[in-house]
Amino acid sequence: MTGSQGKAMAVVKRVGVIGGGQLAWMMAGGAEKLGVELIVQTPSRSDPAVAIATEVILASVGDASATAELAAQCDVITFENEFVDLPALSLLEQQGLCFRPSLSALEPLLDKYNQRSYLQSLGLPVPRFMPLHPEQMPEISLSPSAPSGKLEFPLVLKTRRHGYDGQGTFIIKDRAALQATLAELSHVPLLLEEFVPFERELAAIAARSVKGEIAIFPVVETQQVEQVCRRVFAPATISRTVQAEVEAIAHTLLNHLQVVGVFGIELFLTPDGRVLVNEIAPRVHNSGHFTLDACETSQFEQHLRAVCGLPLGSPAMKCPAAVMVNLLGYEHSIRDYAAQRQQLAAIPQARVHWYGKTESRPGRKLGHVTVLLEEPGDDQRERAIATELEAIWYGRE
Ligand code: ADP
Repeated sequence: MTGSQGKAMAVVKRVGVIGGGQLAWMMAGGAEKLGVELIVQTPSRSDPAVAIATEVILASVGDASATAELAAQCDVITFENEFVDLPALSLLEQQGLCFRPSLSALEPLLDKYNQRSYLQSLGLPVPRFMPLHPEQMPEISLSPSAPSGKLEFPLVLKTRRHGYDGQGTFIIKDRAALQATLAELSHVPLLLEEFVPFERELAAIAARSVKGEIAIFPVVETQQVEQVCRRVFAPATISRTVQAEVEAIAHTLLNHLQVVGVFGIELFLTPDGRVLVNEIAPRVHNSGHFTLDACETSQFEQHLRAVCGLPLGSPAMKCPAAVMVNLLGYEHSIRDYAAQRQQLAAIPQARVHWYGKTESRPGRKLGHVTVLLEEPGDDQRERAIATELEAIWYGRE
């Protein structure tokens, strides 16, 4: 594989994907439609995307020599997981390997403190924040390096790297809790930020093509429980102003980073109508799973279109609204939950996606279900549907 980011490339037929979880697994439909093969680098034979990959390189996502092997078999490399060894991959990029998005588009985003600083440098609105080292505890000053005002409890403490699904995110209500959490997190670089008393959480999936064309899927509302995404309502019931603000944020970010591919943008909407960026995922994202069934083009196909140098597809919804509920593990087990899945599938206009994981653990994403709706804008009904789906799945809620 040769050729660099942005350089004209022969038709892409084989895409290397670093990471073989459910996000890579869900690329299968788009890949088939576009006639491309997926070669996946992932640590275990039991990872979801092994089932849909043309070939598999069995190695951790941080193993850059395995990525060199992957590159030998494909035209371009992309990511379903950003926990990569960037310096090692940079050497490969310098040798001419083509990563989409490019490593320079990932670089400012992989560390949560650097990401906040980068977004702020672009003039994008973020919560007030400061870096923190656990051993600093005795001298913690609650004055942030960020511009306005002092940080006050409650605060949010985050590990700067390798956090996901709420792992590494702690809501801290007072100084004693801060002390206790810091003691547990010895030697890990941290980010401390204001707790945003948001009215809603929003998310947008935005794509940018090799030619710089941008397409943004409808902004959605997400609901998290214990920092893990549980429900997505598409589209979010928001004003045109908020919609336009989110789209402007997406344009600024994707253009500055010269992104090729899909990024997930998570945001807070405050009670006084301000939009703050919470987090950027430099890849397809859980908040965009509804696009598989509810949009003209899924986020997965869109990502592959961008990565393969094709024009982007329409991000428009095919139905007025949709509700997506994650099927999270709630026990340690090796069951396949066939009865619950059948019950979910029997709901009118429900589409169940089961990731084929062999083992269930509390909080593990095992699948999701999307229900397509004929009426938009009925928040109460949408929440009732989510509750119904969760009652079937969790049994006791
Ligand atoms: P992860 O990378 O693990 O997904 P996030 O930073 O996205 O972590 O945080 C997960 C969830 O925690 C958010 O969706 C939100 O519900 C809550 N959260 C994170 N940061 C804040 C904050 N500053 N204020 C209020 N809630 C927050």
